[in-house]
Amino acid sequence: MPLTGQLFIGRERVATGKTFRAANPTTASYIEPPFSSAGPAEVERACALAWAAFDSYRALDNETRAKFMETVADKIMALGDELLERGNAESGLPIARLTGERGRTVNQLRLFATELRLGGWLGVRIDPALPERKPLPRADLRQRKIPLGPVVVFGASNFPLAFSVAGGDTAAALAAGCPVIVKGHSAHPGTSELVASAIQAAVTECGLHEGVFSMLVGDSRELGQSLVADARIKAVGFTGSRGGGTALMKIAAARPEPIPVYAEMSSINPVLLLPGALAARAEALGKEFVASLTLGSGQFCTNPGLVFAFEGPHLETFIKAATAALGGTPPQVMLTAGIYGAFEKGVDRLAKNKTVQTLARGPEPQGANCGRGALFSVPATEVTNNPEITEEVFGASSVIVRCKDEAQMKAVLEHLEGQLTATLHVTEEDYALASRLLPILERKAGRILANGWPTGVEVAHAMVHGGPYPSTSDGRSTSVGTLAIERFLRPVCYQDLPDALLPALLRRGAQTSLPYRLDGVYQAPGANK
Ligand code: NAP
Repeated sequence: MPLTGQLFIGRERVATGKTFRAANPTTASYIEPPFSSAGPAEVERACALAWAAFDSYRALDNETRAKFMETVADKIMALGDELLERGNAESGLPIARLTGERGRTVNQLRLFATELRLGGWLGVRIDPALPERKPLPRADLRQRKIPLGPVVVFGASNFPLAFSVAGGDTAAALAAGCPVIVKGHSAHPGTSELVASAIQAAVTECGLHEGVFSMLVGDSRELGQSLVADARIKAVGFTGSRGGGTALMKIAAARPEPIPVYAEMSSINPVLLLPGALAARAEALGKEFVASLTLGSGQFCTNPGLVFAFEGPHLETFIKAATAALGGTPPQVMLTAGIYGAFEKGVDRLAKNKTVQTLARGPEPQGANCGRGALFSVPATEVTNNPEITEEVFGASSVIVRCKDEAQMKAVLEHLEGQLTATLHVTEEDYALASRLLPILERKAGRILANGWPTGVEVAHAMVHGGPYPSTSDGRSTSVGTLAIERFLRPVCYQDLPDALLPALLRRGAQTSLPYRLDGVYQAPGANK
């Protein structure tokens, strides 16, 4: 399918006079075709259509929305190799990685279809009237969740498929019943166009209102800012830099009607190597750590950017193995020249810090925009006075924090900002220490792992990919897994409404195939309310 460089506004494809091009980070050259930049007129039209679509889209039954999600998945698969090839040209990510990411993207859409059919997300609660209750009767109370309204999703640079146009935020919002306007990432507009064409075709095939989906791209910051400021937009999903996320949070909070921004921003994902684990497998841990650190050139929000261990010979064995592994890992091309530049700056800053020791660098790069891995170490006592040591360096850079004792380890952990993950490497003899550290880790992170590595996030019902600020703007939710649907819903209570005015699933005596709570007690699907 030849790329047109046009915007997607409802069922229309729109060209504007102003254009930009994508760049290939591997060849450091621009690639065709030019893409239209959206301006105020396109923002106005997309928001108007999304608002017009909202009531009809949210009124659809769960089965129709589930079929829509599955149709989007099928149409993405039908794009074939062209999608992978364009993704590779625009991001430098290998075809094998993009193939896996495409699988994750369509599985995510299909998982939300399953979740829609289960219906527990509707949060139905029924407290029947108690007219005889003394001293006061109780009214009849019935609750369900409804979608918030049109959502703007900012595609992420580091997952051009799974966190982009049809990624987790879009899937969760569409499943919840919210029309979506995607602000495509300017680094991969061609990949975005292909995926948007799949969603647009699915909207038509499923007979939905055209405003259910639009996608705008552009190379100016005003585009995203004006979408977030528009009164018809009711929530925002974002993955990217802390600067970008906080700028959008400010705009959302300053609106006459402030709206939630779910921004995933920065995390350095501490890994704790406890003494038993280090004694048992220091060398293997060193190799595994570097494999996780350098995976995808380190461009994962879950990249292990900070390692904690007690000083001693086993830590030295770990460092030796990690240093050797890093020295043998060729640098890979990074997503964009800008991200590569930011990585180099961050590594340089650490290397110049007098309290930080450079332990190892990856081999000299052979091509453009290739990020050489970097490994540093620092005494625990220096971390609290040096904020830059615990700042995210997006890419394959990590700092080992040498601790003398438990008190030092706890002090640095307490000093950390909110994280997406925290990892413990333990054997049974470490359990006592680990259980003393866990309360701190729970306060700091959204996901706690044992004896694994944080890169790699399963799309599942129990997954949390979120965490306290600044890993995300709102640590009460997740951007991966079915729980993400909750971010785009809010509860409504219907008090004493006659059946004729109630949503069908809340009517008195109706059999329901949905799980629900009756007077607070969980009921099996099919029970009579
Ligand atoms: P970014 O610069 O924050 O951009 C993400 C999206 O937000 C893009 O669509 C961008 O528009 C838009 N945007 C950024 N700042 C904005 C602002 N002030 N107002 C309105 N829109 C704004 O992130 P990136 O391009 O993906 O990567 C840059 C850096 O982000 C990396 O070096 C890394 O530090 C960080 N990052 C972190 C994660 C994570 O998960 N922790 C993931 C990816 C990146 P344009 O398309 O016009 O640029």
